[in-house]
Amino acid sequence: MQARLPEWVDPLALVERRERLEGEIPLASLARLSELLSDTEGSLSAVIDFTRLEDRRPGVRGSITGRLRMPCQRCLEAVELPVDLAFELYLVESEAMAARLPEGFEPLLNVSGKVSPRELVENEVLLSLPLIPRHAAGSCEPPEAPSGAPEKLEEAAQRENPFSILAQLRRTPEDGDSGGH
Ligand SMILES: [Zn+2]
Repeated sequence: MQARLPEWVDPLALVERRERLEGEIPLASLARLSELLSDTEGSLSAVIDFTRLEDRRPGVRGSITGRLRMPCQRCLEAVELPVDLAFELYLVESEAMAARLPEGFEPLLNVSGKVSPRELVENEVLLSLPLIPRHAAGSCEPPEAPSGAPEKLEEAAQRENPFSILAQLRRTPEDGDSGGH
């Protein structure tokens, strides 16, 4: 089993030493992410290189891989989502510095000279999650309404929104895809 990531690091010191952190992060240790998951079994693997990025600016570059499960918004059963993402973040000491970064440069706030690798990983994963996690189109059905229930929620929603049928006709095959890249 791989090492746990340190709770806090001094990112600029690690940039000077060109250090790489590698570790496993149990999903159960990521409180904000856990709230969105079907269960918190398993962990994510993270690799974070502290280095100089474009224009020799200090930053981090890394990747996160693993799997997690979220409730499918169609059938409410768990849908397994692969996590395979890369990030590049520039160290800044204030929101003002972050605002001055060139277009397309993502900031990593280093206000007190310390950064939590776990929090960094959690933020990146949260940003990558699909807005509407679902199984592939056609592979699951909404749960049956309990007998005696007036009607299925989906039917009610369609009646209230005349454009939803048009939207369904226009839907492309990729729309049912749960992957978010
Ligand atoms: Zn489903």
